[in-house]
Amino acid sequence: MHEVAALPWPVALAYLVSGILFILALRGLSSPASSRNGNRFGMAGMAIAVGTTLATHKFLDMAEILGAIVIGGLIGFVIARRIAMTAMPQLVAAFHSLVGMAAVVVGAAAFLSPVAFGIADPETLQIFPVSRIEMGLGVAIGAITFSGSVIAFLKLNGNMSGKPIMLPMRHFINLGTLAAILGLVAYFVTDQSPWIFWTVTALSFVIGFLLIIPIGGADMPVVVSMLNSYSGWAAAAMGFTLHNTAMIITGALVGSSGAILSYIMCRAMNRSFISVIAGGFGAEAGPSGGGEPKEQRPWKRGSAEDAAFLMEQAENVIIIPGYGMAVSQAQHALREMSDMLKEAGVNVKYAIHPVAGRMPGHMNVLLAEASVPYDEVFELEDINSEFSQADVAFVIGANDVTNPAAKTDKSSPIYGMPVLDVANAKTVLFVKRSMGGVGYAGVDNDVFYMDNTMMLLGDAKKMVEEIVKALD
Ligand code: NDP
Repeated sequence: MHEVAALPWPVALAYLVSGILFILALRGLSSPASSRNGNRFGMAGMAIAVGTTLATHKFLDMAEILGAIVIGGLIGFVIARRIAMTAMPQLVAAFHSLVGMAAVVVGAAAFLSPVAFGIADPETLQIFPVSRIEMGLGVAIGAITFSGSVIAFLKLNGNMSGKPIMLPMRHFINLGTLAAILGLVAYFVTDQSPWIFWTVTALSFVIGFLLIIPIGGADMPVVVSMLNSYSGWAAAAMGFTLHNTAMIITGALVGSSGAILSYIMCRAMNRSFISVIAGGFGAEAGPSGGGEPKEQRPWKRGSAEDAAFLMEQAENVIIIPGYGMAVSQAQHALREMSDMLKEAGVNVKYAIHPVAGRMPGHMNVLLAEASVPYDEVFELEDINSEFSQADVAFVIGANDVTNPAAKTDKSSPIYGMPVLDVANAKTVLFVKRSMGGVGYAGVDNDVFYMDNTMMLLGDAKKMVEEIVKALD
């Protein structure tokens, strides 16, 4: 058994402080009201962790390291400034792929010069058995995270079809490959031949790819969160290899919070985690799940003036934002509209579905950006029963999250997902650009054709601006 020198107490203390700041960051991020502070805690924690590591390690070339930090930081800064909120999920997937690749590269470096990393006997050059396990698992999880995240990025970015790609005998191939990886990691403990290390790495890249291609677009949010969790575990494993407490703590926090988020999202979509991982959801994407073909069904079209009139007369209006609001950036106009309605004595609330938009919390962030008061924003389970007392449900750019087929049509790809019961409101005003456009899951929505629905066709922002004009 090899001994690892205890950390000098100031270093241990600094890492502990950074760990506490990360926990406070997660706590802050759990609510829109405290999320800015959460981010600040996270940034402070990371600055302390990186600063402590730089100050307490001997580096051959500090300029090289600082140069890399500056270049990486600048790239991150520019991307973060430029990225559209709607493209956030693919950005997150892309960043996870980098964490995975970093774990693979660190693992490879440690394998190639184990003595420099203090994980091998300097005389026999034999890597300590426990380090072989950490390294094998870290590289395997890192490689899976990398290739899985690349596929998630390509699917979310539209470079690859969001439809599941089903290989024949895929469960058999996947289980066989996973068993081979675990078997080789176990064998690596007894034999540190390079072929074992590199085969584990290569098979892990392959399994990451195989695991994500059968997963359909509608399950991608859960997958991104799951890959987030993997990237944390990969970092934690590498923290053991590098004997770096801060990395172990941070990796474990990312790993466990990502896993909890995946679980919460599965619950929000009423999907079992295992069925998401097994893949195939969304295979039958296409205009199904909405009963008769849409062309043959009558629907009513309204104008901005009609909408303004109906809402002004209403006592209770519930606004349901979705992806289309994010695309057209209608949140500021929407806030203006609800301010005018409130002035006219209307009671206005916002109903947020947990997977509305394209990332968890997407709608909350946009509404917060437009300074919508937090106490007007309600989660699905807190507001769903109120639709029956609402005079108007104003659906703006949402679709799947309002689709009753999720409750009634077993053949629908969204079957089982809890939805906002907009149909129970006296009138539904449904803003979207055309009758042909579908939501993320690619299915028609019966709400369009209900007697109490009025379709407001047009770009969300323009439509709301016209309603504001009409209210004026
Ligand atoms: P949907 O994707 O179901 O629907 C979006 C709607 O917005 C469509 O009806 C579209 O119709 C309309 N739209 C698009 N652009 C505009 C525009 N400029 N102006 C007006 N309307 C517009 O969105 P939801 O938010 O209801 O549902 C989210 C879906 O995304 C769920 O299926 C969820 O599983 C999935 N998802 C969620 C993620 C998350 O974490 N939140 C991540 C990834 C996927 P039209 O084209 O006719 O305008």
